[in-house]
Amino acid sequence: MTYFADLTPYTYSRDDDTVRYEWGTLNYRPRYERLNVGWLDASQPFDTGPVPDWFADALLDIVGNPSVNERRGLHLCEFCPSDTSLIADPRSDGQSWLAFREIRVPARPGVMFAAPALVWHYVSAHDYRPPAEFVEAVQRYDADWATEPSPWIPPDAERAVWGRTPRNVMLRCVRCGQKFELHYTPSEPGRRAVSLATQQLREQCPDHGKEWEFWDKIR
Ligand SMILES: [Zn+2]
Ligand SMILES: [Zn+2]
Repeated sequence: MTYFADLTPYTYSRDDDTVRYEWGTLNYRPRYERLNVGWLDASQPFDTGPVPDWFADALLDIVGNPSVNERRGLHLCEFCPSDTSLIADPRSDGQSWLAFREIRVPARPGVMFAAPALVWHYVSAHDYRPPAEFVEAVQRYDADWATEPSPWIPPDAERAVWGRTPRNVMLRCVRCGQKFELHYTPSEPGRRAVSLATQQLREQCPDHGKEWEFWDKIR
C-alpha cells in the first residue's frame, strides 16, 4: 500500500471525495482540508501503544457510516501474511472488505481526517496508535457531517442515483464525462428509455457510443 505519514495532506486519490448513501453517491470537491491518518506501509515504522478501550469499536462504527471513496484503490494489510491480507469487515460475515473504502472524521472546522477503512484493523490487530487528535475526533464523531445541508459538502455536489427510472434525468457519458439531459416524454410511448438514452448520447458524443450512466445534480 502507498505510505503517507500521519497528519500530512491527503493526496491518495483525486481531489474530489465520493460519499455513498443508500440511494446513491454524492461527489464533490471537499470544502475541507484532508489530513492523512493510518496510511501504513511495511517499509515505514509506525507508532504503537495503548489506545482507549472504546477506540477500536468506535472506529469500526465509522467504517461505512458513511463509506467514502469506494474502489479507488485496494488497501491490503502488509503486516499480515499475504493469504490473509484482504481484511473483511467483522460485522459482515466476510462479505464486505475494508480494502476498498475510506473514512472521513471531522477534526476541526474545515479540516477532516482521511483514513483507509483498514485503520480499524491496524489498531485492533497491530497495535497502531494514531495521533491523539485523531483519537479525540473519533470519540466525538457525528455521522451527520454527511447529511445535507452540511458545512462540509458544497452546494454544487453532484449525485448519482441507483436504479432510477429515467424520465428527464441527467445522463453522463462515461468516456468523456459530458452530461446532458435525457428527454423522455409520454409523447414517445413504447420507446424504451435505454434506447432513447443511447440515441441521444450518440448525438451528444458521436465518438463514444453507448457508455452512459445516470447522473443527477443537486439544484
Ligand atoms: Zn494485518
Ligand atoms: Zn463522450
